[in-house]
Amino acid sequence: MKKKEFKSESKRLLDLMINSIYTNKDIFLRELISNASDALDKLYYRSLTDKDIKIDKDDLEINISFDKEKRMIVISDTGCGMTKEELENNLGTIAKSGSLAFKEKMTKEEKVDIIGQFGVGFYSAFMVSDGIEVVSKSVDSDKAYRWFSEGVDGYTVEEADKDDIGTVISIHIKNDTDEENYSEYLDEYKLKSLIKKYSDYISYPIKMEVTKHELVDEKENKYEDIKEIDTINSMIPLWKKSKNEVSEEEYDNFYMDKFNDYDKPLKVIASSVEGITSYRSLLFIPAHAPYDFYNKDYEKGLSLYTSGVLIMDKCSDLLPDYFSFVKGVVDTEDLSLNISREILQKSHSLGLIAKNIESKIRRELESMLKEDREKYEEFFKTFGVQLKYGVYNNFGQDKEKLQDLVMFYSSKKEKLITLGEYVDNMKEDQKSIYYAVGSSIAKIDLLPQVEQVKDKDYDILYLTDYVDEFAITAIQSYNEKKFMNVESESLDLETEEEKNKTNKLNEDNSNLLKDMKEEIGEVSEVRFTNKLKSHPVCLTTKGDVSIEMQKVFDAMPNELGIKAEMILEINEEHPIANKLQDLYKTDKDEFIKYTKILYSEAKIIAGLPLDNPTEISNLICEVISK
Ligand code: ADP
Repeated sequence: MKKKEFKSESKRLLDLMINSIYTNKDIFLRELISNASDALDKLYYRSLTDKDIKIDKDDLEINISFDKEKRMIVISDTGCGMTKEELENNLGTIAKSGSLAFKEKMTKEEKVDIIGQFGVGFYSAFMVSDGIEVVSKSVDSDKAYRWFSEGVDGYTVEEADKDDIGTVISIHIKNDTDEENYSEYLDEYKLKSLIKKYSDYISYPIKMEVTKHELVDEKENKYEDIKEIDTINSMIPLWKKSKNEVSEEEYDNFYMDKFNDYDKPLKVIASSVEGITSYRSLLFIPAHAPYDFYNKDYEKGLSLYTSGVLIMDKCSDLLPDYFSFVKGVVDTEDLSLNISREILQKSHSLGLIAKNIESKIRRELESMLKEDREKYEEFFKTFGVQLKYGVYNNFGQDKEKLQDLVMFYSSKKEKLITLGEYVDNMKEDQKSIYYAVGSSIAKIDLLPQVEQVKDKDYDILYLTDYVDEFAITAIQSYNEKKFMNVESESLDLETEEEKNKTNKLNEDNSNLLKDMKEEIGEVSEVRFTNKLKSHPVCLTTKGDVSIEMQKVFDAMPNELGIKAEMILEINEEHPIANKLQDLYKTDKDEFIKYTKILYSEAKIIAGLPLDNPTEISNLICEVISK
């Protein structure tokens, strides 16, 4: 029989598995059990919606057995099974690894990360096994098939004998080596404790033959070992248990297993609600972004169960976009089992549950922010962008709900602070909440306009994410304090006297300034200013569109043509101001060159590209060589 090759990425991952850099080998069993449980869910759900499929719920089960001599462990289930195509597609590739760029030079830890992130499931069996056979008969096929693989070399698929629908996975356990004792898995006690530890909540019975040491003759006090099939797991879904019955470790294991994460969740939120609608929910905030979170096909949603039966794997209506990182399950008795997706979406109960869940997550985050700042900051680093996105999305309709959860970097505190904290620490004479935008904190710190605000001892929020300024614009004002971009021309920190002096200078030089504006073309005004302290020039903007916003618009694929209205401001205290006035009278050619250079400097500071860098470079050399 011809061997088929694994897809190349799967092959490399498989190679890693076989050479088992992933230290926690124990997880292979929970992965196989979890697949079996999913297959049982699928078959049961099919039977509810497809009248041709008749099953007895009591027949849905998982069986585990082992043979010490033959070094085999067998995991069988009475689930939906796999067709020939499914065997090839599901077990011949690691479906989720489509975009996995596998780097050869990764460190051991990074590789472990990758393995965890991609939830290699079935493949983990190769950590302990050197030969895996899967015999399966699908509910959609009359024939059964056998898939077999000894590792990287590839796999074979052929017809097989199997009467009942379901899957039997037989794994041959590797021989022990100096470092690894694989034989430990060929042990009743070990297998039982692994099932208990990782798969206790699985809602179908996991059965195994166990040895019981039983008293057979009371008088003689005679014991005998009796073999008996036992259900090892408690079968109570974790979310059905009350919080004090479940250990942190159990919650963590459940999360890692169900949501394919290699890391514990940052926060577990378990709740049970009785009221107009009753439901139980078990939600998790991951410690890091799911590996596919920033892909456009990332699907948000919670697993929806009704009376313990999974009816939808990712019910997106249960989560607002700004909490799309939350994982979890919701179980309610208020929805009927074979409800269609369309009806479900319109269901009043579902709407109520979604609303409750949204505010529950929000309250949990608020209290984390209050009580465990460090943890909240960790959370915010990972998912803060999502919250800020939520603030401005839908024309800011959710901003009230989220504005107390967002944080920005404070120039004074040199760390993240909330808007509430900013306002509480405002100076008495301070009118606005000041912010400055740039690609990094260091770069913002160097903006000429920042100096004047800092000199007044006002705090400035440094916005470095592209969403930040949009979020701030959506909030508009916080506690009646308006936001003010330090790069706005309307930044108004001068005294009346200073203003009058500047106004007079601008009036006296109106022709000079007009000529500069005409030479530049792209700005709506050129003016002298006294806000620049030690710096010669800057660009400010008028109106709603800032320079940073324009950059975001410019980066969008379809040209929106939204431009900032820019003003070139020149420091009246700087020697360059006098120089310009001199040249205007004595040497117009030179004056034009200076104008071009100054405007280019202002653009560079603002992080805007120059249209004609060579011309400017030549001009500068010409001027400084004189
Ligand atoms: P995951 O379970 O995370 O999707 P796996 O590699 O563990 O990834 O499994 C790949 C796919 O193979 C599953 O999604 C499922 O479709 C199929 N599969 C695995 N085990 C079984 C089983 N016991 N019964 C039916 N299908 C299975």
